[in-house]
Amino acid sequence: MEEVSAIKSILTCKCPRCRKGKVFKYGNHYHRKFGQIEKKCSHCGLVYEMEQGFWYGAMYVSYGLGVIIAIPVMLIISYLTMLEIYEITFIIFLILLLLMPLLFRYSRIIWLHIFIRYDEEKALLEK
Ligand SMILES: [Zn+2]
Repeated sequence: MEEVSAIKSILTCKCPRCRKGKVFKYGNHYHRKFGQIEKKCSHCGLVYEMEQGFWYGAMYVSYGLGVIIAIPVMLIISYLTMLEIYEITFIIFLILLLLMPLLFRYSRIIWLHIFIRYDEEKALLEK
């Protein structure tokens, strides 16, 4: 059986331990309940919220992702247009607002992948 890469596991929002079970209840990033997370992995049984408040740390990842998006956008807009800084800030705000479900999900997935290593035995479990 072919091993799924960590990058693919993150992009497809899969469990970091087996890289097969889904983390979010709904596949659509823009579903009305996009933030709902499964209690545990359907494939290997990993409990996603390992301790109370575990997800607070994902805010740091989300902040980092926001900065990674905002800085190039700001540089591109300020290079191509004559907009004032408050107009550029508003545009960045709108972009981050539109991307909010993606930032929310990928920050949590990255946070999970930081703490949980891939386990080949769990991945090979028959389900
Ligand atoms: Zn799993």
